[in-house]
Amino acid sequence: MKIPPPDSGLLSLNTATVREKWSLREVIQGCARHGIRGISPWRDKLAEVGAKEAAKLIRDHGLKVTGLCRGGMFPVADRKGRQAALDDNLRAVEEAATLGARCLVLVAGGLPAGSKDLAGAREMVRDGLGELLDRARAAGVPLAIEPLHPMYCADRACINTLAQALDLCDQLDSGKGGALGVAVDVYHIWWDPQLRQGIERAGDKRLLAFHICDWLVPTTDLLNDRGMMGDGVIDLPRIRSWMEAAGYRGFHEVEIFSAKNWWKREPDDVLSVVKRRHQECC
Ligand code: ZN
Repeated sequence: MKIPPPDSGLLSLNTATVREKWSLREVIQGCARHGIRGISPWRDKLAEVGAKEAAKLIRDHGLKVTGLCRGGMFPVADRKGRQAALDDNLRAVEEAATLGARCLVLVAGGLPAGSKDLAGAREMVRDGLGELLDRARAAGVPLAIEPLHPMYCADRACINTLAQALDLCDQLDSGKGGALGVAVDVYHIWWDPQLRQGIERAGDKRLLAFHICDWLVPTTDLLNDRGMMGDGVIDLPRIRSWMEAAGYRGFHEVEIFSAKNWWKREPDDVLSVVKRRHQECC
């Protein structure tokens, strides 16, 4: 069955996609100019103008903040380091609240330096999340755990599948109140044989964000060689249809790290391609 094209009004731009050439101010103006209604800033870009000023700019341009990237990085060997991580996460929650962000995206963190204790790292993620959750709930900021591809397990995220992330949600927020959920980034979990079941299991309460791009063959860099939608092997319309069947009605956020290609192009041209490919390939 042919899947109809997505609602163009649900397109959102993650600032990482044009981060090399545009400031946050320019991204906001660019989105407005191209009729893109969602934006998801990274915190380094946010720091250029501060959360308050950014919130005003974003509002003035009629955009919605589909997520703030990112918090997390929970596993740290010593207590002092864990406290520093928590403090930074609390600042991220505050920034997300100021922006009225749909969620704060969390990347779990990998193994602490020198450690081989993967189970221990995952416990630290659970404990850190638990500590953060009450404060985030009080601030009205949903936390979205983003499972990352297993190739990042050592250094970025030891939460690698939707099932793992949802197990954490069940442990920490059994009431499914909407304060804790997941960010589904196709780049990280498109390969998972349980992807459809995971999306169904999450349901609308826990599907907080949908990040899109494509997986290139071959991929030449683990971090910065993501493809534009349509240039790779991910069946984006199918995954979107699963998201919608599970009740997700949120934005489709384009997040492309691409040192050799898209970061080198004129951002206005990139945004034109993003808009077209969203309609044709997603
Ligand atoms: Zn993502």
